[in-house]
Parts: sequence; structure tokens; C-alpha cells
Amino acid sequence: MFIRYRAEGIFISKLKRFEADEYLTVFTKEFGKIGITGKSIRKIKSKLRSSSELFCYSDIEFIRGRHYNILTDSELRDDFSEIKSDLGKLSVAFQIARLLDSFLAEEEEDERLWIFARKSFFLLDDLSLSNLGNNDKKRLLHLFYYYFCFKFLEILGYKPDMGGCVLDKKEASIFSPREGGLICKNCSLKIRDPLEISLEEGDINLIESVSKMEFENFLEKDFHFEKIDEVLSNYLIVLPSRLS
Ligand SMILES: [Zn+2]
Repeated sequence: MFIRYRAEGIFISKLKRFEADEYLTVFTKEFGKIGITGKSIRKIKSKLRSSSELFCYSDIEFIRGRHYNILTDSELRDDFSEIKSDLGKLSVAFQIARLLDSFLAEEEEDERLWIFARKSFFLLDDLSLSNLGNNDKKRLLHLFYYYFCFKFLEILGYKPDMGGCVLDKKEASIFSPREGGLICKNCSLKIRDPLEISLEEGDINLIESVSKMEFENFLEKDFHFEKIDEVLSNYLIVLPSRLS
């Protein structure tokens, strides 16, 4: 007899396997990130199919086979239909899923991260974009991703240190991915981090605000930022993950 395991989770990636199978990655409350094979799931008849689509939030049941986990049941809680009906939201969901998939080890439960990730999917689904012009919409979706990303890093223990130069506590506005925070001009000359980025006050303020503010309040703030994309892409390069 196989033991049946239950979990609630969000499907964050899927890969086709063989004729009709799928390799599904689910971020769950109980097991953290977990890989599960959906046998024959791509067949039209499969009862599991509609509740295990990408970004579905479902109650799942699986067994542990000799070589891999096998999905045996899945019941939909929320399909986040508003995310799927907006290309901008969908693209943020893909970015979030990619972070979860790339930085998390398999089967390491993290309740704080689960609560935050689940909340983020609901917030993204509910995010009101209909009254916004194109630029404002883009800006809001950027802010959404920035908040998610920095909070995610904070929960994993990689919060950037923005309180003055990390090496000598002097006033600083250069971000060094290698040092994990701000450095001053003198230290910049000494350590020569090829990925360093000079930041404006608005960039620093935005990064600091992630720790201080709730997600909802952060999205309402009028930040003036320029280099956040660069900070994130350079910082993610130096962090231990499967991304780089
Ligand atoms: Zn310094």
C-alpha cells in the first residue's frame, strides 16, 4: 500500500514528459517546492488536468513511487483567472514562478515563504489595472515584481544591506552585489566589484521600503526609481541558485 500525501500548493512549472505525462513543480505549504509527475495528465479525459494547470492553487494528493512522486488527485481552490486573462500579470506570475523554481531546494518547508507567495498570487489576481494607462500599468507591475523579489530574498536571508557602506559604515550609494549591499566610493575602488551599480536616492528608498512596508501600501507609493532592474539582475547572478 502506498501512503497518500496531501498538500495545498500552487503549480509553478510544468514540462511535457513522454506521450502524455507531465513533470509538475508545485510550491506547497507542507513540503515547500516539490516535483510531481502527472501520469497521462495531458489526455483529454484526465480528471486532474484542469486543476493542475500552471498557476492553479489546488489541494493535491500524491504517492511516492520508487523513483518519483505521482499525482493522484487534485482539487482546485483558485485558478487565478484574472492573472491568466492579462498578459502583464501573467508575465509577472512567470517571473515569480521562476524565482521560486530556481532558488528553492526541493522539499524544504518554509511557512513564512508559503504565506507570502500565496498572498502575492491573490494580490496579483486582484490587482486593479483597468483604469490605468499603459505606462502606469507597466509601472505598477514593475513595483509588484520588485516587492516580491526583495521580500523573497529577505525571507531567504539575502536582504540587501542598505544602511551605509557594509564595509566601513560610511555614507554610501553604490550597490555591490558581491558584498550584498551598499558600499562607499573608497571601498568601491578597493574591492572592484564588476557588477556594482551607482544608485539614486529613489532606488535606495524603494529597496529599503520593502522591509518596512506591507505589500499593499508599497504598491500605492510614488517611488522614483531608475536602476532597480539592474540591481536585481546583477544581484541574482551572485546568489546561489540554478538561475546562473
Ligand atoms: Zn566603505
